[in-house]
Amino acid sequence: MTGMSLNKKQLAAQLKEVANLLELLGEDAFRARAFMTAARNIENFEGDVAQLLQEDRLSEIKGIGSGLAAELAALKTQESLPLLEELKGRVPEGVRSLFMVSGLGAKKIAALWQSGIVSLEDLVAAAQAGRIASMKGFGKKSAENILVAAQFALNARKRMHLNVALKIAQLVIEAITQALPQARAEIAGSLRRGLETIGDINLLITGVKAPQVAKALENIVQVKDLSESQLTVLLDGRTVQIIISSEAAFGASLAFYTGNYEYRRMLLERAAELGYELREDGLFQADKLTETKSEVDLFEKLKLPFIQAERREQRQPKPTAQVITLADMHGLVHNHSSWSDAVNSIREMVSAARAKGYNYLAMADHSQSSYYANGLSAERVFAQAKEIAEIRRELADEGSDFGLLHGIEVDIMTDGSLDYPDEVLAVLDYTVVSVHQNFSLSESKQTARIIRAVQNPYAGILGHATGRLLLRRPGYQLDLQAVIEACAESNTVIEINAHPYRLDLDWRWVIKARELGCKFSINPDAHHIDGFDDLRYGVIVARKAGLSKVDVVNTAPTAEQFLRQLKSSSLKSPAKATQAES
Ligand SMILES: [Zn+2]
Ligand SMILES: [Zn+2]
Repeated sequence: MTGMSLNKKQLAAQLKEVANLLELLGEDAFRARAFMTAARNIENFEGDVAQLLQEDRLSEIKGIGSGLAAELAALKTQESLPLLEELKGRVPEGVRSLFMVSGLGAKKIAALWQSGIVSLEDLVAAAQAGRIASMKGFGKKSAENILVAAQFALNARKRMHLNVALKIAQLVIEAITQALPQARAEIAGSLRRGLETIGDINLLITGVKAPQVAKALENIVQVKDLSESQLTVLLDGRTVQIIISSEAAFGASLAFYTGNYEYRRMLLERAAELGYELREDGLFQADKLTETKSEVDLFEKLKLPFIQAERREQRQPKPTAQVITLADMHGLVHNHSSWSDAVNSIREMVSAARAKGYNYLAMADHSQSSYYANGLSAERVFAQAKEIAEIRRELADEGSDFGLLHGIEVDIMTDGSLDYPDEVLAVLDYTVVSVHQNFSLSESKQTARIIRAVQNPYAGILGHATGRLLLRRPGYQLDLQAVIEACAESNTVIEINAHPYRLDLDWRWVIKARELGCKFSINPDAHHIDGFDDLRYGVIVARKAGLSKVDVVNTAPTAEQFLRQLKSSSLKSPAKATQAES
Protein backbone atom coordinates (compact mmCIF):
# COMPACT_ATOMS: atom_id res chain seq x y z
CA MET A 1 0.00 0.00 0.00
CA THR A 2 1.35 3.43 -0.83
CA GLY A 3 0.51 6.76 0.73
CA MET A 4 -2.02 7.28 -2.03
CA SER A 5 -4.33 4.71 -0.51
CA LEU A 6 -3.54 5.33 3.15
CA ASN A 7 -6.78 6.38 4.82
CA LYS A 8 -7.10 8.50 7.93
CA LYS A 9 -7.71 5.53 10.20
CA GLN A 10 -4.50 3.86 9.06
CA LEU A 11 -2.55 7.10 9.33
CA ALA A 12 -3.87 7.74 12.84
CA ALA A 13 -3.04 4.14 13.82
CA GLN A 14 0.60 4.66 12.80
CA LEU A 15 0.84 7.86 14.82
CA LYS A 16 -0.68 6.18 17.86
CA GLU A 17 1.77 3.33 17.57
CA VAL A 18 4.66 5.80 17.42
CA ALA A 19 3.32 7.55 20.53
CA ASN A 20 2.93 4.24 22.39
CA LEU A 21 6.41 3.03 21.50
CA LEU A 22 8.04 6.37 22.41
CA GLU A 23 6.36 6.19 25.80
CA LEU A 24 7.23 2.52 26.24
CA LEU A 25 10.89 3.23 25.52
CA GLY A 26 10.83 6.14 27.94
CA GLU A 27 11.75 8.66 25.24
CA ASP A 28 10.70 12.28 25.10
CA ALA A 29 7.25 12.35 26.73
CA PHE A 30 6.39 15.65 25.04
CA ARG A 31 7.02 14.13 21.62
CA ALA A 32 4.91 11.07 22.47
CA ARG A 33 2.02 13.34 23.47
CA ALA A 34 2.36 15.35 20.25
CA PHE A 35 1.99 12.18 18.17
CA MET A 36 -1.03 11.04 20.20
CA THR A 37 -2.73 14.45 19.83
CA ALA A 38 -2.03 14.47 16.10
CA ALA A 39 -3.51 10.97 15.79
CA ARG A 40 -6.73 12.06 17.53
CA ASN A 41 -7.04 15.20 15.44
CA ILE A 42 -6.56 13.23 12.23
CA GLU A 43 -9.24 10.77 13.32
CA ASN A 44 -11.69 13.57 13.98
CA PHE A 45 -10.78 15.53 10.85
CA GLU A 46 -13.74 15.81 8.47
CA GLY A 47 -11.86 16.29 5.18
CA ASP A 48 -9.80 14.07 2.91
CA VAL A 49 -6.57 13.37 4.79
CA ALA A 50 -4.99 11.39 1.94
CA GLN A 51 -5.41 14.36 -0.36
CA LEU A 52 -3.88 16.78 2.16
CA LEU A 53 -0.94 14.41 2.48
CA GLN A 54 -0.38 14.34 -1.27
CA GLU A 55 -0.60 18.14 -1.46
CA ASP A 56 1.72 18.72 1.51
CA ARG A 57 -1.09 20.43 3.42
CA LEU A 58 -1.30 18.19 6.51
CA SER A 59 -0.32 21.14 8.73
CA GLU A 60 -3.79 22.56 8.03
CA ILE A 61 -5.05 19.97 10.53
CA LYS A 62 -5.08 21.25 14.10
CA GLY A 63 -2.18 19.93 16.17
CA ILE A 64 0.06 19.05 13.22
CA GLY A 65 3.03 21.40 13.10
CA SER A 66 5.29 21.84 10.09
CA GLY A 67 7.94 19.54 11.60
CA LEU A 68 5.50 16.67 12.06
CA ALA A 69 3.96 17.32 8.64
CA ALA A 70 7.42 17.01 7.07
CA GLU A 71 7.94 13.70 8.87
CA LEU A 72 4.58 12.41 7.64
CA ALA A 73 5.43 13.38 4.04
CA ALA A 74 7.40 10.12 3.84
CA LEU A 75 4.02 8.37 3.59
CA LYS A 76 3.54 9.80 0.11
CA THR A 77 5.93 7.20 -1.22
CA GLN A 78 6.13 4.46 1.41
CA GLU A 79 3.60 2.60 3.48
CA SER A 80 5.09 3.05 6.92
CA LEU A 81 6.71 5.95 8.79
CA PRO A 82 10.51 5.62 9.03
CA LEU A 83 10.34 6.56 12.72
CA LEU A 84 7.79 3.81 13.34
CA GLU A 85 9.99 1.23 11.64
CA GLU A 86 12.96 2.34 13.72
CA LEU A 87 10.99 2.12 16.99
CA LYS A 88 9.54 -1.27 16.05
CA GLY A 89 13.09 -2.53 15.55
CA ARG A 90 13.80 -1.69 19.19
CA VAL A 91 10.78 -3.46 20.72
CA PRO A 92 10.21 -7.22 20.28
CA GLU A 93 7.01 -8.07 18.43
CA GLY A 94 5.68 -10.00 21.43
CA VAL A 95 6.03 -6.94 23.65
CA ARG A 96 4.23 -4.80 21.06
CA SER A 97 1.38 -7.33 21.04
CA LEU A 98 0.71 -6.45 24.70
CA PHE A 99 -0.90 -3.24 23.44
CA MET A 100 -3.78 -5.44 22.27
CA VAL A 101 -4.69 -6.10 25.90
CA SER A 102 -7.38 -3.64 26.87
CA GLY A 103 -6.48 -1.74 30.02
CA LEU A 104 -2.72 -1.98 29.44
CA GLY A 105 -0.90 1.24 28.56
CA ALA A 106 2.75 1.94 27.75
CA LYS A 107 3.81 2.42 31.40
CA LYS A 108 2.45 -0.93 32.55
CA ILE A 109 3.78 -2.70 29.48
CA ALA A 110 7.23 -1.25 30.19
CA ALA A 111 7.07 -2.71 33.70
CA LEU A 112 5.96 -6.10 32.39
CA TRP A 113 8.73 -6.10 29.80
CA GLN A 114 11.27 -5.29 32.47
CA SER A 115 10.11 -8.28 34.49
CA GLY A 116 10.73 -10.57 31.51
CA ILE A 117 7.25 -10.74 29.98
CA VAL A 118 7.70 -10.57 26.20
CA SER A 119 4.52 -12.09 24.78
CA LEU A 120 0.79 -12.50 25.36
CA GLU A 121 1.46 -16.13 26.30
CA ASP A 122 3.99 -14.99 28.93
CA LEU A 123 1.47 -12.51 30.29
CA VAL A 124 -1.27 -15.12 30.63
CA ALA A 125 1.13 -17.56 32.34
CA ALA A 126 2.41 -14.89 34.75
CA ALA A 127 -1.11 -13.76 35.63
CA GLN A 128 -2.23 -17.34 36.21
CA ALA A 129 0.77 -17.94 38.46
CA GLY A 130 -0.18 -14.86 40.51
CA ARG A 131 2.99 -12.99 39.57
CA ILE A 132 1.24 -9.93 38.14
CA ALA A 133 -0.77 -9.23 41.29
CA SER A 134 2.39 -8.87 43.34
CA MET A 135 4.07 -6.45 40.92
CA LYS A 136 4.30 -2.82 41.91
CA GLY A 137 1.46 -0.73 40.47
CA PHE A 138 -0.77 -3.72 39.61
CA GLY A 139 -2.68 -5.36 42.47
CA LYS A 140 -5.09 -8.28 42.63
CA LYS A 141 -8.13 -6.80 40.88
CA SER A 142 -6.08 -5.34 38.05
CA ALA A 143 -4.23 -8.66 37.59
CA GLU A 144 -7.56 -10.46 37.30
CA ASN A 145 -8.77 -8.04 34.63
CA ILE A 146 -5.46 -8.33 32.77
CA LEU A 147 -5.74 -12.12 32.70
CA VAL A 148 -9.21 -12.01 31.15
CA ALA A 149 -8.21 -9.33 28.65
CA ALA A 150 -4.94 -11.10 27.74
CA GLN A 151 -6.71 -14.40 27.08
CA PHE A 152 -9.21 -12.53 24.97
CA ALA A 153 -6.42 -10.82 22.98
CA LEU A 154 -4.58 -14.11 22.54
CA ASN A 155 -7.67 -15.71 21.09
CA ALA A 156 -8.39 -12.65 18.95
CA ARG A 157 -4.91 -12.76 17.44
CA LYS A 158 -5.39 -16.36 16.36
CA ARG A 159 -8.85 -15.87 14.89
CA MET A 160 -10.55 -13.55 12.42
CA HIS A 161 -14.05 -12.26 11.75
CA LEU A 162 -16.24 -14.16 9.30
CA ASN A 163 -16.22 -11.36 6.71
CA VAL A 164 -12.40 -11.16 6.75
CA ALA A 165 -12.07 -14.91 6.31
CA LEU A 166 -14.58 -14.96 3.48
CA LYS A 167 -12.82 -12.13 1.71
CA ILE A 168 -9.45 -13.86 1.92
CA ALA A 169 -10.94 -17.17 0.76
CA GLN A 170 -12.61 -15.47 -2.18
CA LEU A 171 -9.40 -13.68 -3.18
CA VAL A 172 -7.48 -16.96 -3.20
CA ILE A 173 -10.22 -18.85 -5.07
CA GLU A 174 -10.50 -16.10 -7.69
CA ALA A 175 -6.75 -16.04 -8.26
CA ILE A 176 -6.68 -19.83 -8.66
CA THR A 177 -9.68 -20.12 -10.97
CA GLN A 178 -8.56 -17.18 -13.10
CA ALA A 179 -5.15 -18.72 -13.74
CA LEU A 180 -6.46 -22.29 -13.85
CA PRO A 181 -10.00 -22.30 -15.27
CA GLN A 182 -10.17 -26.11 -15.00
CA ALA A 183 -9.90 -25.88 -11.20
CA ARG A 184 -12.92 -26.37 -8.98
CA ALA A 185 -12.61 -24.82 -5.56
CA GLU A 186 -14.76 -25.00 -2.45
CA ILE A 187 -14.42 -23.52 0.99
CA ALA A 188 -14.21 -26.18 3.72
CA GLY A 189 -13.64 -26.17 7.49
CA SER A 190 -15.20 -23.80 10.01
CA LEU A 191 -15.62 -21.11 7.37
CA ARG A 192 -17.93 -23.38 5.37
CA ARG A 193 -19.81 -24.12 8.56
CA GLY A 194 -20.17 -20.36 9.03
CA LEU A 195 -18.70 -20.21 12.52
CA GLU A 196 -18.73 -16.65 13.93
CA THR A 197 -14.93 -16.41 14.06
CA ILE A 198 -12.41 -18.38 12.06
CA GLY A 199 -8.91 -19.71 12.79
CA ASP A 200 -7.32 -21.14 9.65
CA ILE A 201 -9.05 -21.07 6.28
CA ASN A 202 -9.42 -24.42 4.51
CA LEU A 203 -9.98 -24.74 0.77
CA LEU A 204 -10.47 -27.88 -1.27
CA ILE A 205 -9.39 -27.80 -4.93
CA THR A 206 -9.68 -30.31 -7.70
CA GLY A 207 -8.54 -30.48 -11.32
CA VAL A 208 -5.06 -29.05 -10.67
CA LYS A 209 -1.75 -29.91 -8.99
CA ALA A 210 -0.32 -28.21 -5.91
CA PRO A 211 2.68 -26.60 -7.70
CA GLN A 212 0.31 -25.07 -10.30
CA VAL A 213 -1.73 -23.57 -7.48
CA ALA A 214 1.41 -22.20 -5.84
CA LYS A 215 2.37 -20.59 -9.15
CA ALA A 216 -1.10 -19.10 -9.63
CA LEU A 217 -0.93 -17.51 -6.19
CA GLU A 218 2.70 -16.36 -6.21
CA ASN A 219 1.85 -12.67 -6.52
CA ILE A 220 -0.62 -12.49 -3.66
CA VAL A 221 0.53 -14.97 -1.03
CA GLN A 222 3.59 -16.27 0.75
CA VAL A 223 3.89 -20.05 0.34
CA LYS A 224 4.81 -21.66 3.68
CA ASP A 225 4.56 -25.29 2.81
CA LEU A 226 4.12 -27.20 -0.43
CA SER A 227 3.66 -30.92 -0.99
CA GLU A 228 2.02 -33.12 -3.61
CA SER A 229 -1.43 -32.97 -2.07
CA GLN A 230 -1.56 -29.69 -0.22
CA LEU A 231 -0.08 -26.28 0.32
CA THR A 232 -0.18 -23.79 3.12
CA VAL A 233 -0.04 -20.12 2.24
CA LEU A 234 -0.12 -16.84 4.13
CA LEU A 235 -2.23 -13.90 2.99
CA ASP A 236 -2.45 -10.74 5.12
CA GLY A 237 -0.84 -12.75 7.91
CA ARG A 238 -3.63 -15.35 7.78
CA THR A 239 -3.07 -19.03 7.12
CA VAL A 240 -4.88 -20.64 4.21
CA GLN A 241 -4.59 -24.38 3.86
CA ILE A 242 -5.29 -25.63 0.35
CA ILE A 243 -5.95 -29.32 -0.13
CA ILE A 244 -5.80 -30.93 -3.54
CA SER A 245 -8.46 -33.54 -4.13
CA SER A 246 -9.44 -35.71 -7.07
CA GLU A 247 -12.72 -35.26 -8.90
CA ALA A 248 -13.88 -38.73 -7.87
CA ALA A 249 -13.14 -38.15 -4.18
CA PHE A 250 -14.29 -34.56 -3.93
CA GLY A 251 -17.56 -35.12 -2.05
CA ALA A 252 -16.00 -37.34 0.60
CA SER A 253 -12.98 -35.06 1.04
CA LEU A 254 -15.19 -31.99 1.30
CA ALA A 255 -17.27 -33.57 4.07
CA PHE A 256 -14.09 -34.78 5.79
CA TYR A 257 -12.49 -31.33 5.80
CA THR A 258 -15.71 -29.49 6.65
CA GLY A 259 -16.01 -31.20 10.02
CA ASN A 260 -16.59 -30.41 12.77
CA TYR A 261 -14.66 -33.00 14.73
CA GLU A 262 -17.73 -34.63 16.31
CA TYR A 263 -19.68 -34.71 13.10
CA ARG A 264 -16.76 -36.15 11.16
CA ARG A 265 -16.39 -38.92 13.74
CA MET A 266 -20.00 -39.83 13.23
CA LEU A 267 -19.43 -40.00 9.45
CA LEU A 268 -16.34 -42.16 9.91
CA GLU A 269 -18.18 -44.58 12.18
CA ARG A 270 -21.19 -44.71 9.87
CA ALA A 271 -18.93 -45.50 6.92
CA ALA A 272 -17.24 -48.29 8.88
CA GLU A 273 -20.64 -49.79 9.79
CA LEU A 274 -21.50 -50.01 6.10
CA GLY A 275 -18.18 -51.57 5.14
CA TYR A 276 -16.51 -48.40 3.88
CA GLU A 277 -13.54 -46.40 5.00
CA LEU A 278 -13.95 -42.64 4.94
CA ARG A 279 -10.59 -40.90 4.67
CA GLU A 280 -9.37 -37.42 3.90
CA ASP A 281 -8.68 -38.56 0.33
CA GLY A 282 -12.02 -40.20 -0.37
CA LEU A 283 -14.48 -42.98 0.41
CA PHE A 284 -12.95 -46.43 0.04
CA GLN A 285 -14.21 -49.98 -0.02
CA ALA A 286 -11.55 -52.66 0.33
CA ASP A 287 -8.92 -50.05 -0.61
CA LYS A 288 -10.79 -49.21 -3.82
CA LEU A 289 -12.05 -45.65 -4.21
CA THR A 290 -15.83 -45.31 -4.33
CA GLU A 291 -16.78 -42.32 -6.43
CA THR A 292 -18.31 -39.34 -4.56
CA LYS A 293 -18.21 -36.38 -6.89
CA SER A 294 -20.32 -34.33 -4.51
CA GLU A 295 -21.31 -34.44 -0.86
CA VAL A 296 -24.79 -35.56 -1.91
CA ASP A 297 -23.17 -38.71 -3.35
CA LEU A 298 -21.46 -39.34 -0.02
CA PHE A 299 -24.62 -38.92 2.02
CA GLU A 300 -26.43 -41.31 -0.33
CA LYS A 301 -23.69 -43.90 -0.01
CA LEU A 302 -23.83 -43.60 3.77
CA LYS A 303 -27.65 -43.66 3.74
CA LEU A 304 -27.81 -40.45 5.75
CA PRO A 305 -30.08 -37.43 5.26
CA PHE A 306 -28.16 -34.48 3.83
CA ILE A 307 -27.25 -31.95 6.52
CA GLN A 308 -26.33 -28.42 5.46
CA ALA A 309 -22.75 -27.53 6.37
CA GLU A 310 -23.74 -24.82 8.87
CA ARG A 311 -25.52 -27.41 11.04
CA ARG A 312 -22.56 -29.75 11.40
CA GLU A 313 -21.52 -28.57 14.85
CA GLN A 314 -22.53 -31.73 16.67
CA ARG A 315 -22.64 -35.45 16.14
CA GLN A 316 -26.30 -35.73 15.24
CA PRO A 317 -27.85 -32.44 14.12
CA LYS A 318 -31.57 -32.49 13.43
CA PRO A 319 -32.28 -32.33 9.70
CA THR A 320 -34.11 -29.07 8.99
CA ALA A 321 -36.54 -28.68 6.15
CA GLN A 322 -36.70 -25.34 4.38
CA VAL A 323 -33.75 -23.63 6.00
CA ILE A 324 -33.78 -19.87 5.52
CA THR A 325 -31.71 -18.36 2.69
CA LEU A 326 -30.73 -14.81 1.83
CA ALA A 327 -33.35 -14.85 -0.93
CA ASP A 328 -36.07 -15.18 1.74
CA MET A 329 -35.17 -11.78 3.19
CA HIS A 330 -37.49 -9.00 1.98
CA GLY A 331 -36.97 -6.17 4.45
CA LEU A 332 -33.94 -4.27 5.71
CA VAL A 333 -34.58 -3.51 9.38
CA HIS A 334 -32.50 -1.47 11.89
CA ASN A 335 -30.66 1.05 9.73
CA HIS A 336 -28.95 4.32 10.60
CA SER A 337 -28.85 7.43 8.42
CA SER A 338 -27.03 10.76 8.47
CA TRP A 339 -29.71 11.91 10.93
CA SER A 340 -27.58 10.20 13.61
CA ASP A 341 -24.12 8.66 13.17
CA ALA A 342 -24.25 7.12 9.72
CA VAL A 343 -23.16 8.22 6.26
CA ASN A 344 -26.14 8.19 3.89
CA SER A 345 -29.38 10.15 3.79
CA ILE A 346 -32.67 8.27 4.09
CA ARG A 347 -33.35 8.93 0.40
CA GLU A 348 -30.00 7.38 -0.56
CA MET A 349 -30.73 4.38 1.62
CA VAL A 350 -34.19 3.93 0.09
CA SER A 351 -32.83 3.95 -3.42
CA ALA A 352 -29.99 1.55 -2.56
CA ALA A 353 -32.44 -0.84 -0.84
CA ARG A 354 -34.74 -0.73 -3.87
CA ALA A 355 -31.82 -1.32 -6.25
CA LYS A 356 -30.90 -4.41 -4.24
CA GLY A 357 -34.41 -5.78 -4.64
CA TYR A 358 -35.73 -5.38 -1.09
CA ASN A 359 -39.40 -4.51 -0.53
CA TYR A 360 -39.04 -2.29 2.51
CA LEU A 361 -36.57 -0.35 4.62
CA ALA A 362 -37.06 0.20 8.35
CA MET A 363 -35.00 3.08 9.71
CA ALA A 364 -33.66 3.06 13.29
CA ASP A 365 -31.45 6.05 14.04
CA HIS A 366 -30.07 6.50 17.54
CA SER A 367 -32.12 7.98 20.37
CA GLN A 368 -31.28 11.06 22.42
CA SER A 369 -29.15 9.43 25.14
CA SER A 370 -26.68 8.24 22.52
CA TYR A 371 -25.50 11.84 22.23
CA TYR A 372 -22.02 10.71 21.06
CA ALA A 373 -23.79 9.15 18.06
CA ASN A 374 -25.82 12.29 17.41
CA GLY A 375 -28.98 10.62 18.73
CA LEU A 376 -32.30 12.28 17.95
CA SER A 377 -34.08 14.56 20.42
CA ALA A 378 -37.88 14.26 20.54
CA GLU A 379 -38.08 17.32 18.32
CA ARG A 380 -35.81 15.75 15.72
CA VAL A 381 -37.85 12.52 15.84
CA PHE A 382 -40.89 14.58 14.77
CA ALA A 383 -38.84 16.32 12.07
CA GLN A 384 -37.63 12.95 10.83
CA ALA A 385 -41.22 11.69 10.74
CA LYS A 386 -42.01 14.59 8.40
CA GLU A 387 -39.15 13.73 6.07
CA ILE A 388 -40.19 10.08 6.04
CA ALA A 389 -43.78 11.04 5.21
CA GLU A 390 -42.45 13.16 2.36
CA ILE A 391 -40.38 10.30 0.95
CA ARG A 392 -43.40 7.99 1.22
CA ARG A 393 -45.41 10.46 -0.84
CA GLU A 394 -42.65 10.60 -3.46
CA LEU A 395 -42.65 6.81 -3.63
CA ALA A 396 -46.44 6.74 -3.97
CA ASP A 397 -46.35 9.40 -6.72
CA GLU A 398 -43.90 7.22 -8.57
CA GLY A 399 -46.32 4.31 -8.25
CA SER A 400 -43.84 2.37 -6.14
CA ASP A 401 -45.09 0.07 -3.38
CA PHE A 402 -41.73 0.13 -1.62
CA GLY A 403 -42.28 0.44 2.15
CA LEU A 404 -40.42 2.90 4.37
CA LEU A 405 -40.85 2.53 8.12
CA HIS A 406 -40.01 5.03 10.81
CA GLY A 407 -38.34 3.44 13.80
CA ILE A 408 -35.66 4.43 16.28
CA GLU A 409 -33.00 2.37 17.99
CA VAL A 410 -34.14 3.44 21.45
CA ASP A 411 -31.59 3.31 24.26
CA ILE A 412 -32.50 1.17 27.23
CA MET A 413 -31.86 3.41 30.21
CA THR A 414 -30.06 2.09 33.30
CA ASP A 415 -33.38 1.49 35.06
CA GLY A 416 -34.85 -0.32 32.07
CA SER A 417 -37.09 2.51 30.91
CA LEU A 418 -36.96 3.63 27.29
CA ASP A 419 -35.25 6.82 26.15
CA TYR A 420 -38.45 8.74 25.15
CA PRO A 421 -41.81 9.42 26.73
CA ASP A 422 -44.73 7.42 25.33
CA GLU A 423 -46.01 10.29 23.18
CA VAL A 424 -42.77 10.18 21.17
CA LEU A 425 -42.68 6.37 20.98
CA ALA A 426 -46.29 6.45 19.79
CA VAL A 427 -45.42 8.23 16.52
CA LEU A 428 -42.98 5.48 15.53
CA ASP A 429 -43.87 2.47 13.41
CA TYR A 430 -41.63 0.23 15.49
CA THR A 431 -38.60 0.30 17.78
CA VAL A 432 -35.34 -1.54 18.28
CA VAL A 433 -34.45 -1.34 21.98
CA SER A 434 -30.73 -1.62 22.77
CA VAL A 435 -28.16 -1.18 25.53
CA HIS A 436 -25.39 1.24 24.58
CA GLN A 437 -24.20 2.44 27.98
CA ASN A 438 -23.50 1.13 31.48
CA PHE A 439 -22.10 -2.20 30.41
CA SER A 440 -20.60 -2.82 33.82
CA LEU A 441 -23.80 -3.28 35.84
CA SER A 442 -23.99 -6.42 37.93
CA GLU A 443 -25.59 -9.44 36.28
CA SER A 444 -28.81 -9.10 38.26
CA LYS A 445 -29.16 -5.36 37.53
CA GLN A 446 -28.32 -5.75 33.84
CA THR A 447 -30.82 -8.61 33.53
CA ALA A 448 -33.60 -6.75 35.33
CA ARG A 449 -32.90 -3.66 33.21
CA ILE A 450 -33.27 -5.49 29.90
CA ILE A 451 -36.27 -7.54 31.04
CA ARG A 452 -38.07 -4.34 32.01
CA ALA A 453 -37.30 -2.87 28.59
CA VAL A 454 -38.51 -5.86 26.57
CA GLN A 455 -41.73 -5.87 28.61
CA ASN A 456 -42.43 -2.28 27.58
CA PRO A 457 -45.37 -2.36 25.16
CA TYR A 458 -43.40 -0.12 22.79
CA ALA A 459 -40.45 -2.53 22.55
CA GLY A 460 -40.54 -4.15 19.11
CA ILE A 461 -37.15 -5.79 18.72
CA LEU A 462 -34.39 -6.37 21.29
CA GLY A 463 -31.19 -5.14 19.55
CA HIS A 464 -27.78 -6.91 19.89
CA ALA A 465 -28.83 -8.64 23.11
CA THR A 466 -25.43 -9.19 24.74
CA GLY A 467 -23.43 -6.20 23.49
CA ARG A 468 -20.50 -8.42 22.54
CA LEU A 469 -18.01 -7.41 19.87
CA LEU A 470 -16.42 -10.57 18.54
CA LEU A 471 -12.64 -10.67 19.16
CA ARG A 472 -12.90 -7.21 20.78
CA ARG A 473 -14.94 -7.47 23.94
CA PRO A 474 -17.20 -10.02 25.60
CA GLY A 475 -20.83 -9.12 26.22
CA TYR A 476 -22.03 -7.62 29.49
CA GLN A 477 -22.87 -9.87 32.44
CA LEU A 478 -26.35 -11.15 31.81
CA ASP A 479 -28.75 -13.95 32.61
CA LEU A 480 -29.52 -14.44 28.94
CA GLN A 481 -31.91 -17.32 29.59
CA ALA A 482 -34.10 -15.02 31.69
CA VAL A 483 -34.00 -12.28 29.05
CA ILE A 484 -34.99 -14.72 26.32
CA GLU A 485 -37.86 -16.04 28.44
CA ALA A 486 -39.05 -12.46 28.95
CA CYS A 487 -38.92 -11.86 25.18
CA ALA A 488 -40.93 -15.02 24.57
CA GLU A 489 -43.54 -14.01 27.14
CA SER A 490 -43.85 -10.43 26.02
CA ASN A 491 -43.70 -11.20 22.30
CA THR A 492 -40.63 -9.07 21.78
CA VAL A 493 -38.74 -10.09 18.67
CA ILE A 494 -35.03 -10.85 19.16
CA GLU A 495 -32.51 -9.38 16.75
CA ILE A 496 -29.88 -11.41 14.99
CA ASN A 497 -27.53 -8.51 14.41
CA ALA A 498 -25.81 -9.30 11.11
CA HIS A 499 -22.77 -7.08 11.60
CA PRO A 500 -19.79 -9.47 11.44
CA TYR A 501 -18.42 -8.02 14.69
CA ARG A 502 -21.65 -8.72 16.54
CA LEU A 503 -23.58 -11.75 15.21
CA ASP A 504 -25.58 -11.25 18.37
CA LEU A 505 -27.78 -13.18 19.42
CA ASP A 506 -25.29 -16.02 19.18
CA TRP A 507 -26.60 -18.98 17.14
CA ARG A 508 -26.30 -21.34 20.12
CA TRP A 509 -28.78 -19.14 21.98
CA VAL A 510 -30.96 -18.68 18.90
CA ILE A 511 -31.61 -22.42 19.03
CA LYS A 512 -32.80 -22.13 22.65
CA ALA A 513 -34.81 -18.97 22.04
CA ARG A 514 -36.63 -20.60 19.16
CA GLU A 515 -37.53 -23.57 21.34
CA LEU A 516 -39.13 -21.07 23.72
CA GLY A 517 -41.19 -19.68 20.85
CA CYS A 518 -39.26 -16.49 20.10
CA LYS A 519 -39.29 -14.80 16.70
CA PHE A 520 -36.25 -13.15 15.18
CA SER A 521 -35.40 -10.24 12.94
CA ILE A 522 -32.14 -10.48 10.96
CA ASN A 523 -30.86 -6.92 10.83
CA PRO A 524 -27.90 -5.31 9.06
CA ASP A 525 -27.57 -2.43 11.60
CA ALA A 526 -26.26 -0.58 8.53
CA HIS A 527 -24.40 2.68 9.00
CA HIS A 528 -23.74 2.90 5.25
CA ILE A 529 -25.57 1.48 2.24
CA ASP A 530 -22.75 -1.07 1.85
CA GLY A 531 -23.76 -2.40 5.27
CA PHE A 532 -26.93 -3.88 3.72
CA ASP A 533 -24.75 -6.67 2.36
CA ASP A 534 -23.88 -7.77 5.91
CA LEU A 535 -27.32 -9.37 5.99
CA ARG A 536 -25.70 -12.50 4.56
CA TYR A 537 -23.76 -13.06 7.80
CA GLY A 538 -26.94 -12.82 9.84
CA VAL A 539 -28.55 -15.38 7.54
CA ILE A 540 -25.58 -17.69 8.18
CA VAL A 541 -26.25 -17.39 11.94
CA ALA A 542 -29.92 -18.21 11.34
CA ARG A 543 -28.95 -21.20 9.20
CA LYS A 544 -26.61 -22.45 11.92
CA ALA A 545 -29.55 -22.33 14.30
CA GLY A 546 -31.72 -24.16 11.74
CA LEU A 547 -34.28 -21.34 11.38
CA SER A 548 -36.71 -21.31 8.52
CA LYS A 549 -38.36 -18.24 7.13
CA VAL A 550 -41.43 -18.45 9.39
CA ASP A 551 -39.13 -17.81 12.37
CA VAL A 552 -37.89 -14.50 10.95
CA VAL A 553 -40.20 -11.49 10.81
CA ASN A 554 -38.42 -9.60 8.04
CA THR A 555 -39.01 -12.40 5.58
CA ALA A 556 -42.52 -10.92 5.46
CA PRO A 557 -43.07 -9.72 1.89
CA THR A 558 -44.43 -6.28 2.83
CA ALA A 559 -43.74 -3.65 5.47
CA GLU A 560 -47.32 -3.99 6.70
CA GLN A 561 -47.00 -7.71 7.23
CA PHE A 562 -43.66 -7.20 8.95
CA LEU A 563 -45.26 -4.70 11.36
CA ARG A 564 -48.11 -7.05 12.11
CA GLN A 565 -45.60 -9.52 13.49
CA LEU A 566 -44.13 -6.99 15.87
CA LYS A 567 -45.75 -6.39 19.20
CA SER A 568 -45.29 -2.64 19.01
CA SER A 569 -47.39 -2.46 15.88
CA SER A 570 -50.38 -3.81 17.81
CA LEU A 571 -50.45 -0.45 19.58
CA LYS A 572 -51.01 1.32 16.30
CA SER A 573 -54.27 1.97 14.58
CA PRO A 574 -54.82 -0.09 11.43
CA ALA A 575 -54.83 3.18 9.50
CA LYS A 576 -51.25 3.87 10.50
CA ALA A 577 -50.02 0.45 9.41
CA THR A 578 -51.74 0.82 6.05
CA GLN A 579 -50.21 4.22 5.58
CA ALA A 580 -46.81 2.76 6.40
CA GLU A 581 -47.08 0.37 3.53
CA SER A 582 -48.08 2.86 0.89
ZN1 LIG B 1 -26.88 -0.44 18.67
ZN1 LIG C 1 -27.75 0.26 15.48
